[in-house]
Amino acid sequence: MSMDHEAVIGLEIHVQLNCETKMFCRCPSRPGDEPNRNTCPICLWLPGNLPRFNREALEQAILASLALDCEIQKESAFDQKVYYYPDLPKGYQLSQFHMPLAMNGHLNVTDANGARKTIRIRKVHMEEDVARLVHENEGRTPVSLVDFNRAGMPLVEIVTEPDLRNSGDAMEFLRCLIRQIRYSGSSECSMEQGTMRVDANVSIRPAGSDQFNTKVEIKNMNSIRSVGDAIAYEIERQKECLVDGEPIVLHTRLWDPEKRVTSPMRGKFEGPCVPDPSVPRIVIESEYLDEVRTRLPEMPEQKAQRFVKHYGLTYEDAATMCSERSVSEYFEAVADCGVSSRLAAQWIAGQVLPLLKECDETVSTSRLTPDRLAGLLKMLERDEINSSAAKEILGKLRGSDAPLKVIVESGGFRQVSEADQLEAVVDRVLEENPSAVENFRKGASKALGFLMGQAMQATRGKANPRLLKEIMTRKLG
Ligand SMILES: [Zn+2]
Repeated sequence: MSMDHEAVIGLEIHVQLNCETKMFCRCPSRPGDEPNRNTCPICLWLPGNLPRFNREALEQAILASLALDCEIQKESAFDQKVYYYPDLPKGYQLSQFHMPLAMNGHLNVTDANGARKTIRIRKVHMEEDVARLVHENEGRTPVSLVDFNRAGMPLVEIVTEPDLRNSGDAMEFLRCLIRQIRYSGSSECSMEQGTMRVDANVSIRPAGSDQFNTKVEIKNMNSIRSVGDAIAYEIERQKECLVDGEPIVLHTRLWDPEKRVTSPMRGKFEGPCVPDPSVPRIVIESEYLDEVRTRLPEMPEQKAQRFVKHYGLTYEDAATMCSERSVSEYFEAVADCGVSSRLAAQWIAGQVLPLLKECDETVSTSRLTPDRLAGLLKMLERDEINSSAAKEILGKLRGSDAPLKVIVESGGFRQVSEADQLEAVVDRVLEENPSAVENFRKGASKALGFLMGQAMQATRGKANPRLLKEIMTRKLG
């Protein structure tokens, strides 16, 4: 983008709450079931049926808001957001507009240059989801079907202030937001699985200015990556409009992930937001709020600080261990088995997580339970196996239920630490490679590496490298 313009970006994020039932009825909250199976007169929005607000949705919405450091409002209320579309046959959606559940939150993110930035969150409000439209063909006739399983699903919408300045910041903000909300347990926040949807409002202005120009809304991004791509594309598009003297008008555009462009979307009729008379106002007493607050677990930032202090990890390692709540719990379980915590963090980050990702498993579902990993790392610490053997054993521990001992013994992984045995190997290697020995004595230090390699090969990789080097250096000395 040109040097003299900057982008102004705000996000609106819809998050599906982890609830057993829908927001205003007792139908199960399982939108993926057979179409229209989870419905009742309330969520089919038939006339004459009053919504009954679900307390579980309120609790999860409060947890999500607390995870974003928002102030929970003592009173909030639902409005009818009026619009007409086949996914909303009653003609309005219950949403909070005038009196949202929570306000004034923030998240701290680190930008590409390592600088910390605070992104303010304007509000978090509750909302019911609309039905899902399915477009199909019956013979040669295109038809649109309506699935009400999603109708009335509990959502919160999170609205940021326009504090983001580029696509990279927006992506990093989303990663932080997902981590916070997942920790709180209130949502899975998966864009790929449809439990999170992100719309972006983008405008541009002269750099350093504080004016807000006409913004364009972009929708239809299905991954964090595509949010970044769509924003980057839109910034460039608006800049070109500016160069061409074409005015930027308020409208909505859809991201096309195949063509990698945004294109204008046909406008929906959108009406006013009027107070809803059927759902009572929500009044939150401080005792109730305190009680919900106690259910918020230790959050990633605090937890990482504790890991630094208590386990002596570097901040970087601690942050990696806290990237997911399940990973942080896994790390603690391994470290609490009495393994060096740094070794545990190194192995989890460097070996376990990449291996599980490759096999499409998680720390919670894998056979690599904390005590199996701890057993392996203890053998490594005691020099009973070396690290290349440990990596191989790790794969076998993941792939079978066999106990660690059986895997180590049957695979012959135990490392050779008996000095006598290694002395004999070294003697033989030195005898077989007289020219390398001579080169070493003339000062070619590379020769040592060669001789070590030969000796290691002679033990089929099972020598204790430290001991081997000690003997080798002494004998060459
Ligand atoms: Zn229902």
